[in-house]
Amino acid sequence: MNAQAPKGTADMLPDVARAWEHLQRTAQDLFSRYGYEPVYTPLFEHTEVFTRAIGEATDIVSKEMYTFEDKGGRSITLRPEGTASVVRASLEHNLTANGAQAKLYYAGPMFRYERPQKGRMRQFWQIGIEVLGAAEPTADAEVITVLWRYFEALGLPAESMRLLLNSMGDENCRPAYRDSIATFIREHARGLCEECVRRAETNPLRAFDCKNPGCREVMSAASLLRDELCDECAAHYAAVKAHLDALGIPYVEDSTLVRGLDYYTRTVFEIQVDAGLGSQNAIGGGGRYDRLMEEYDGPPTPGLGFALGFERTLLAMQAAGIEVPAPSRAEVYIARVDDSVTAEVFALAQRLRDAGIAAELDHQGRSLKSQFKQADRLGARFVAVLGPDEVAAGEFTLRDMGTKEETRVAMSAAEATVAASLG
Ligand SMILES: [Zn+2]
Ligand SMILES: [Zn+2]
Repeated sequence: MNAQAPKGTADMLPDVARAWEHLQRTAQDLFSRYGYEPVYTPLFEHTEVFTRAIGEATDIVSKEMYTFEDKGGRSITLRPEGTASVVRASLEHNLTANGAQAKLYYAGPMFRYERPQKGRMRQFWQIGIEVLGAAEPTADAEVITVLWRYFEALGLPAESMRLLLNSMGDENCRPAYRDSIATFIREHARGLCEECVRRAETNPLRAFDCKNPGCREVMSAASLLRDELCDECAAHYAAVKAHLDALGIPYVEDSTLVRGLDYYTRTVFEIQVDAGLGSQNAIGGGGRYDRLMEEYDGPPTPGLGFALGFERTLLAMQAAGIEVPAPSRAEVYIARVDDSVTAEVFALAQRLRDAGIAAELDHQGRSLKSQFKQADRLGARFVAVLGPDEVAAGEFTLRDMGTKEETRVAMSAAEATVAASLG
């Protein structure tokens, strides 16, 4: 039996699991202040949910999906991202019927078959929000602000973050622009990598994303979509920027930001950090997807959202020296002098736990000396010592591990005395 987790996955041991819970709690606190409610969708969907939404020509769909046939002969895919599932669920349950607005957040694992590298796993964890039914630019500014404030709430310094902003246009202005970029790529094919040349036929805007310096150089001479937006898209984009300006959220316009999914329209954004991630420096991002519901044969429903990666956010936090607060595993350790008082020790631990105090005891037959060592390792502030003498007197000894001071405490007043000592 191979006791190793599969390539590209990692066990979340307590230190990391605690960080994940901290990120979820922080999200819950912040997002609910903006009116977002939790949603949990299945970890797998009918494959079509992703191929229709994300687009056949994207890296995700063409190379990275975990797709398999289940025993009923259905094509099933482990979710590679969260938005498609949330939009599918909103349509299925009519959350935006009659012009209603849905504001939802999610947190959980996603799956992509990629070459594992720092901060990029095959099973990775994301937190995201989606707003469905809102077309106004205030919704864009709100979603972007929530992402910015979230990273601030985790302690990332604002000056280490860079918010990139762009508009991808819509069905009125993007097709002509796509064609012009496809033509540009064909005309400059000699200076571009093979993949970019191929993108002229499949997904020309992705050529702006190429990491190859030669390609970047060539593409920098291509016309920018923000100069070719239709009037409605230009006005929407200007309003998003004005709202961000009014809130003092700093952004950098980056017309090469296209994000890797086909469903985006108009606003797209990404937050990058300087430290900890090498060249893969985006920790979260998202955008508007006003046509996505129609891909599922639903009614036209504007929407937008963001997703942030747990692993990359954690790396950024570590690089910034931010520690996730660890709660005490034992405020009080209950030590027994010998086996004759085991039942009393166990009962006292339970009384303190019922009173809301973190109490721990030995389950391994340790000597008194090694029980004290264990109490030290757990960071217990007090050790309650019970022996036959104490039990006979209806008392226990409470030792302050800092001052080494010892007091006798009446067993009947255990909860109140220990709580008062802990302050
Ligand atoms: Zn290229
Ligand atoms: Zn447009």
